[in-house]
Amino acid sequence: MRLVPLLLALGLTGTAFAAERETRIPEAAVTAAAQLREQALADNTGWNVVESLTTEIGPRLAGSEADARAVAWAQAKFKALGFDKVWIEPVTFPKWERRGEIASVLGAYAQPLTITALGGSPAGTVEGEVVHFADLAALEAAPEGSLTGKIAFVDYQMKAARDGSDYRNGGATRSKGPSAAIRKGAAGFLMRSAGTDSHRLPHTGITRFDEGLTPVPSAALSVPDANQLARLAARGPTSIRMALDCGWDGQATSYNVIGEITGRTKPDEVVLIGAHLDSWDLGTGAVDDGAGVAITMAAGHLIGKMKQPPERSIRVVAFANEEQGLHGGIAYAAKHMGDLRKHQLGAESDFGAGRIYAFNTGAPAHARAATEQIAKALAPLGIEYAPDQGGAGPDISPFSAKGLTWGWLAQDGSDYFDLHHTADDTLDKIDPKALAQNVAAYAVFAYLVAEADGDFGSAPRADAAASE
Ligand code: ZN
Ligand code: ZN
Repeated sequence: MRLVPLLLALGLTGTAFAAERETRIPEAAVTAAAQLREQALADNTGWNVVESLTTEIGPRLAGSEADARAVAWAQAKFKALGFDKVWIEPVTFPKWERRGEIASVLGAYAQPLTITALGGSPAGTVEGEVVHFADLAALEAAPEGSLTGKIAFVDYQMKAARDGSDYRNGGATRSKGPSAAIRKGAAGFLMRSAGTDSHRLPHTGITRFDEGLTPVPSAALSVPDANQLARLAARGPTSIRMALDCGWDGQATSYNVIGEITGRTKPDEVVLIGAHLDSWDLGTGAVDDGAGVAITMAAGHLIGKMKQPPERSIRVVAFANEEQGLHGGIAYAAKHMGDLRKHQLGAESDFGAGRIYAFNTGAPAHARAATEQIAKALAPLGIEYAPDQGGAGPDISPFSAKGLTWGWLAQDGSDYFDLHHTADDTLDKIDPKALAQNVAAYAVFAYLVAEADGDFGSAPRADAAASE
């Protein structure tokens, strides 16, 4: 019996001995969570938050003047929602700007094309023959030097899916396509938008150029424009002109904005929920990711309004610059690595505002029963327990790779890629009832984790610690 205080003093409770002690959630907390769930379903805080962010700030490209206003907005909103600790942590990154873009078909079928520059693209005007590829693999298989002076056009059509799984292909076209095109000698890169809509609205998003390559102007066509260009290319050699005015411009500093509801008995232990505050510049960042900011802020707010706060603190993070490379999530993990064990678990909402349909955590065996208890409390919201699925959200993933246990609340993303990174990502696309269901799920989940008797297995991973 005397061994236990010694181990506590040595901070060894998280790993070796946790496995011998099963984490459980007290019945009183489960009862309180049921009440919280019903209150959240009838509450409109989530809607009010996303209405405020998208109306008062609108688009908030990382490092822009609007991004700075969003940081001030988030601090004020946390305070207004009753978070008793609110602070910011700086995040510095390269700043990219979009100033304008235009493209047109040249020659006998001359006509304008609707495009948007990919984030990270350099400025430049290119004119040349379009070479059509069905997908990224076809471009990668093209002979070296075969695209010299030409413009590569990758025409992959993403398929809609509830879990958004085909973004793996759409996203890869965007992130790897430009570098593949440059290797073949291309002067420019064009892609069918990574999207599932049929509107004349292109989808932007970050791209990367591999080390050692000279970047070329890179853009996405709207889906109807990709159809049009494919038909023209099928008729014979087709040339276009594309002029992009955009590019990198030094460094910018933004902030992770953090609000906390202090726990009543273990205030230094936290349940981390969050979303990213930045957005692309074409829409107003409603489904990506104003919704996530609203869902997690509202969940924290409702927990803070309960008769007594949970045992552990609820920490809500509005992450800086997710869009251009998880900058906020990486900065958070670096800053808080020493407190990794103080984090029970982390979850990010970053897949729109559709209803949550599945739940899981990455907790080890000793906390599976607690995960099942949470799943049971979520079931009345139409959420199923998916014990073999899930993973960390984008801004949680850098910390999760170091050992933070993830929570996963899967949103229905059937229409997410109709809107994602387009001018159509606006408030009217959010269903207030679906948003409230998300708030209810996050509130119940975060509250029960905060009340659990025992941990969820967050601990530095041996492989991650070695690379520290
Ligand atoms: Zn996002
Ligand atoms: Zn995004």
